[in-house]
Amino acid sequence: MYGSHGAVRPAVGRGSAQSPDYCLRGHRLQIAGVTGRYSHYYRLTDITCEVCYALKDPLATWYLIDPTEQYSAEDADTMGLVLVLIPPAMRGGLGHIELWLGGVSVGDIDLRACGPCRRAVLEHVRVDEKYRRMGYGRVLVAAAVARAPGYSWSTTTMDTSLATRAFWAAVGDQVPGDIGGPPNYCTDMLRAAEHTP
Ligand SMILES: [Zn+2]
Ligand SMILES: [Zn+2]
Repeated sequence: MYGSHGAVRPAVGRGSAQSPDYCLRGHRLQIAGVTGRYSHYYRLTDITCEVCYALKDPLATWYLIDPTEQYSAEDADTMGLVLVLIPPAMRGGLGHIELWLGGVSVGDIDLRACGPCRRAVLEHVRVDEKYRRMGYGRVLVAAAVARAPGYSWSTTTMDTSLATRAFWAAVGDQVPGDIGGPPNYCTDMLRAAEHTP
């Protein structure tokens, strides 16, 4: 799959300017050796651990996407992998972040955030089946949390399916607050929810 145009590979939500110290298998890159290049398909920097590459590990190459870089649907690049923000219509309303690959949404997350109350709630995370276990959900959660740094976060009540538990067990460390529900809505959020069908 290496070098094949458009191959699905993991994306990891880290600052694009930040170079990682470890690969996805935990190798220290300073010792393992690392190659970074610009991917024209994803329009992101890709990083390859040279040890993982030599061992033919499918996680050898990954992308660095900055979760704070979010575009409006009008301004978003219809090439590459980009985060697109659809802001809420009112305070406490449901905001929406999508991850687009080549102009098509492959995953999204719903959130409510209230500035005056400094509260935020994650509602749903969805990633297309074809793109699961690639780090895309982690990128979406990091993008949502980046919208409201320092807020008190909670999530809606989760189902107990294996897929849901596996996701949050892997990604929950990204959320600075209570995972699993119930959501800690403020009155603005409850009011906004009443106004939205
Ligand atoms: Zn490695
Ligand atoms: Zn509020």
